[in-house]
Amino acid sequence: MAEPERKGELLPEDVGTDDCLTSYTHVYSPDLLKDQVAFITGGGSGIGLRIAEIFMRHGCDTVIASRNLDKLKEAAKKLSAVSGRRCLPLRIDVRQPESIVAAVDETLRELGRIDILINNAAGNFLCPAASLSFNAFKTVMEIDTMGTFNASKVVYEKWFQNHGGNIVNISATLGYRGHAFQVHAGSAKAANDAMTRHLAVEWGPSGVRVNTVAPGPISGTEGFRRLGGPTGEAAGVFQSIPLQRAGNKTELAHCALFLASRASSYVTGAILVADGGSWLTSANDVSMLLGYWSSEKKRDK
Ligand code: NAP
Repeated sequence: MAEPERKGELLPEDVGTDDCLTSYTHVYSPDLLKDQVAFITGGGSGIGLRIAEIFMRHGCDTVIASRNLDKLKEAAKKLSAVSGRRCLPLRIDVRQPESIVAAVDETLRELGRIDILINNAAGNFLCPAASLSFNAFKTVMEIDTMGTFNASKVVYEKWFQNHGGNIVNISATLGYRGHAFQVHAGSAKAANDAMTRHLAVEWGPSGVRVNTVAPGPISGTEGFRRLGGPTGEAAGVFQSIPLQRAGNKTELAHCALFLASRASSYVTGAILVADGGSWLTSANDVSMLLGYWSSEKKRDK
């Protein structure tokens, strides 16, 4: 359980594993998303799972969609048990538009509507550009960028075009200062930030808002573990960022909830950075990261 209180701030509850919260205090009205339906890519783990949980605790039914159906089914059971809402686990690969088409058709058959699309599915790892294979770069672009376009286009054509809706993309701040060893994810997310604005412009007249949350380091996630978060935390690197700590998944879910709900009804094309001020002040030290990357590589072998 995360430290509940710090320097006068009340942090929302979180757990560091892919489990549901053991307690939850509403910040927003509990019926903020009552009877809406959210389609969440990568909703079976990490930030996506917590977004699903928080949305369901606000009256929403969800679809959690990614490649590993066993993981999704297990997550869906836990999510429905804590919230009393429906959660449909569906297998998709965001690189394959036809798998998204099938999942969206099934969502509309089973749940009757889609109000919110969360583009959260992504892949990431640390790797110097010179060691990154052509295929690795391409794969990250395909999952993060093409995947976001594919899911947005399918949901728009099948539902949002005629009914309106909300798209929230989960981005990152990596490209803002050219974070070392992240050319793949930084480039992919920068493209998504542009896509947020392009789609906001084109689809606004159909009643579709398109926004983005850009998280910084978020504890209890695969991203945090793979990018050296726990090691950095132990070494005190968060002391140099304005809020002096990593964020938690519930904090991120609250940002997504704001952008996906009527609380932000006049906001579109926006990027909400939720990183404790990290990108402004944190080190972008190639030598230090090279040491970390080499030691992780040795451990993999
Ligand atoms: P995570 O648990 O690994 O979540 C990624 C999800 O994407 C997984 O559930 C995975 O499920 C799914 N996925 C991967 N490839 C897919 C594909 N081809 N098709 C469909 N689904 C796919 O990681 P996370 O750390 O919570 O990250 C969630 C989001 O936050 C990502 O967009 C990430 O870039 C962003 N972010 C995270 C942090 C952080 O500190 N954690 C910081 C900045 C940004 P399957 O394996 O079942 O497909």
